[in-house]
Amino acid sequence: MQCDTKFDFITRKHHCRRCGKCFCDKCCSKKVPLPRMCFVDPVRQCAECALISQKETEFYDKQLKVLMNGATFFVTLGTSDKSELMVCRLSNNQRYLVLDGDSHYEIEIVQISTVQILTEGFTPGEKDTHTYTSLLESQHITEGGNTRAIGMILQYKVPGSEELTQMKFTASEDFSSNKKLSASWLAAMHKATKLLYESRDQ
Ligand SMILES: [Zn+2]
Ligand SMILES: [Zn+2]
Repeated sequence: MQCDTKFDFITRKHHCRRCGKCFCDKCCSKKVPLPRMCFVDPVRQCAECALISQKETEFYDKQLKVLMNGATFFVTLGTSDKSELMVCRLSNNQRYLVLDGDSHYEIEIVQISTVQILTEGFTPGEKDTHTYTSLLESQHITEGGNTRAIGMILQYKVPGSEELTQMKFTASEDFSSNKKLSASWLAAMHKATKLLYESRDQ
């Protein structure tokens, strides 16, 4: 992806502050904040990185607030047939998903291996359950449109164990006033997952 301009004394090189690769002025002209690396003021980035950073900045501004405020879900652990009504939110240091009900769980974000967002009208396990991979291919979840998010399946590692634990989140029909909030929370989680995977890929 690096620019193939020949550099000499006149044509100067510029480093992208995100990936560190060299580009000509034209290919590395975008200045975007890079909150992940603590550049709050806009810094020079290549086109590819600028796009990712723009999405991150938008996320930091809007979505984190939604995730940290939390929403209510019925939570089912593993293959249990019991579910528990819990408030799920992102911790203030943004490193854990914290669940509070009669039980209490803290899931470290780095231990999460897969996220599936479930959308309205389909049951889990069918082809329309969107795995992360299909989310990347532009499956867009809106907060009021046709593809309202109604649940999520997380798989994560519990420290000290090699096996994956599964947790299912379902927005409840009975708590209609919270349903919109739950959908917003899931949409934010959807965006968070994309960023998480993009940063892992680098
Ligand atoms: Zn770059
Ligand atoms: Zn160039």
